[in-house]
Amino acid sequence: MSSPSPVPPVQLHIYPAKVLRQKAKPIDKFTDELRQVIARMFEVMDVEEGIGLAAPQVGISLRLFILDVPENAKRGSLATSIPPSASPGRMVFINPVLRFEGPVEPMDEGCLSLPEITGEVLRPPIVHVTALDEFGKPFTLTAGGLLSRCIQHETDHLDGVLIIDKMTQPSRVKNRIAVKKLEND
Ligand SMILES: [Zn+2]
Repeated sequence: MSSPSPVPPVQLHIYPAKVLRQKAKPIDKFTDELRQVIARMFEVMDVEEGIGLAAPQVGISLRLFILDVPENAKRGSLATSIPPSASPGRMVFINPVLRFEGPVEPMDEGCLSLPEITGEVLRPPIVHVTALDEFGKPFTLTAGGLLSRCIQHETDHLDGVLIIDKMTQPSRVKNRIAVKKLEND
């Protein structure tokens, strides 16, 4: 028998779960419990075969997300200071602040919290990020390509924003029935 875990349940929440629409709170304590939550998030992301997961997607309204973007996509980034605790491909972002560069362009996106839904989302190509790692150590990063997309998508989750809010009009039309189905499930 093991003692009860102090870590809250970490499981995927699907739209229209309320937590996906809340503005998440900043993190100010970098505890072992937080790092256990992050480890569980990586497990959930691996099971779901995602490349990014934000804390609100597992029912935790905190400003935290993780990424596991393929290495070839990361090479397109212009990293200035990679978080020291990150293993290859795997990154943790806490309390991220973004600055955008360039005119918006369309790219297909999906979301683990919106099964069966994909569509074109408009975003600027380059993002400059400042954030903290899981030990509270600050880092900065400039990203392009898929890494930039993922950072912007996951940061939107921390503000209760979903891809269905930002899709192009044709993609909204294409997904209308699938979205309604999720809302009525
Ligand atoms: Zn998502």
